[in-house]
Amino acid sequence: MLNASVCDRIAKHTEPDLFGGCWLWAKMIRKDGYGAMKRAGKYVLAHRASYEAHRGPAGHLWVLHKCDVRACVNPDHLFLGTPSDNVRDMVQKGRAVHAASVTRLTASEVDEMIRLRREGLAFRVIAKRLGRSAQAVGRRLVKLGVSAPEIQRPDLQKLVLRSVEFDTNGGCWLWSRYVAKDGYGHACFSQRGTLVAHRFAYEVFVGPIPSGLSVKQSCGVRSCCNPAHLFTTYVQRPNAGLAPTKET
Ligand SMILES: [Zn+2]
Ligand SMILES: [Zn+2]
Repeated sequence: MLNASVCDRIAKHTEPDLFGGCWLWAKMIRKDGYGAMKRAGKYVLAHRASYEAHRGPAGHLWVLHKCDVRACVNPDHLFLGTPSDNVRDMVQKGRAVHAASVTRLTASEVDEMIRLRREGLAFRVIAKRLGRSAQAVGRRLVKLGVSAPEIQRPDLQKLVLRSVEFDTNGGCWLWSRYVAKDGYGHACFSQRGTLVAHRFAYEVFVGPIPSGLSVKQSCGVRSCCNPAHLFTTYVQRPNAGLAPTKET
């Protein structure tokens, strides 16, 4: 059962880690590294709220991270387990040792993580190099506002490809992240806000959408992002005198 308003808030308040695919909660982060958000007047864990909004109630089970990034609220990185699953998972991933040795980041570590982030490395990779937890690194870098360099088009194409499911019958690329009530997919970006997924896919694979043009699916499937099924059309301002631009 999809809770659209919680999904929308999650899309709005996450910082995507495009390389690792994590959705980092950019609002309140608790001391232990988990995100928190208000839901129905009560503070709840953001990743739990995200899981429940996208997948359904978790009941008495815990919502655990596949990616080990506590601030991550990407439903694809979350799974249900029992508290003992959590302990087993921690031991397997060597996180128990980490948790016991959390100390403040030193100034030289902070300099190093800024340098690595500017090279475009994912939080997880930086954390590994420094022997720190990814959530500590992610939280600090988000706070400092250090972002990875401008993401290049091939990376954005990979991101789209990772975010769709391929329909073998019609050849559609069905958006597998958040799909709104109106049937259109949403792609969330901290810098640009929430984008409509198929418009984003068009820009990434075909080129900029001239202003005043709308992007439609020839297959009629609103969540489809296959550039071969997308075309631009005049919907508003038919006299604006714009023509679709070709890929340069
Ligand atoms: Zn994640
Ligand atoms: Zn299609």
